[in-house]
Amino acid sequence: MSVISTEYADHMVSVLQEFSPSWEREMDDLARLLDGKRFAVLTGAGISTDSGIPDYRGQGASRRTPMSIDQFRSDVLYRKRYWAGSHRGWLTFASALPNDGHRAVAALEQARLVSGVVTQNVDGLHRRAGSAHVVDLHGSLDRVVCLDCGQRYDRNALAARLARENPWFEEVSDVALAPDGDVDITDFDSLVVPECEVCGGVLKPDVVFFGEVVPFRVYSAATAIVRKAEALVVAGSSLMVNSGFRLVDQARKARMPVIIVNRGATKADAVANIRIDAGTSEVLADLALRLGATDVTEDIE
Ligand SMILES: [Zn+2]
Repeated sequence: MSVISTEYADHMVSVLQEFSPSWEREMDDLARLLDGKRFAVLTGAGISTDSGIPDYRGQGASRRTPMSIDQFRSDVLYRKRYWAGSHRGWLTFASALPNDGHRAVAALEQARLVSGVVTQNVDGLHRRAGSAHVVDLHGSLDRVVCLDCGQRYDRNALAARLARENPWFEEVSDVALAPDGDVDITDFDSLVVPECEVCGGVLKPDVVFFGEVVPFRVYSAATAIVRKAEALVVAGSSLMVNSGFRLVDQARKARMPVIIVNRGATKADAVANIRIDAGTSEVLADLALRLGATDVTEDIE
């Protein structure tokens, strides 16, 4: 199946032109700036909102204080709370589908226009859309790691184990999902938290917690993607997280053009060569059309 339908993209463009007379001009400028360049893409929660995963930094989202790694390590009650939320989140993430934005990025990579993707998201949707060269800056929810012995587990297997040991848990519903897969659940005290089958140690989804730093080898892989590119496109991130902002800084220092596509202000607006305040699905799908990167990917799900 052809993923970015031309009819749909044309429809979206005509809809957007009605809202914004400047759309055509902005997209022309964007396509012209990127024409003939290999570019890196840095994505944040905004690219996944059209897949039904809310952006907790976006408008109307609740302000949650993320759990720190110290709390998670030292207190079983925190771990129960985290695993309760994360399990719910995982079930929702696992059923979410890539959207036109993810598919456009994958199509642009297959057309050899995108050199790689660095994402702040932990939802795995870039890979499921067909992107091959992806660095998960903040880890990925589909892996679980033992904090004591380093053993890794597949998330699906672990989710099955948790469900088996907590059959009542399926009854818990009506929860608000955040993009890190954590949710607000209060009824968690009796949850049996899975332990490492090798050493009995503490298991944690392989994502970067509040208070943790991005592992060096991951950050190196991210900077390598930016270094090898000729431009950087930021899509769906306000760049409030430092690791993302530093990549923009790196691009600026290498004098490469920086393009920001995001609904609402970002921390790097002042240094962007082109700044488009619009949804990432529409902009990226239109960009892929303009650069001739359509009908390339197959839906692999
Ligand atoms: Zn272990």
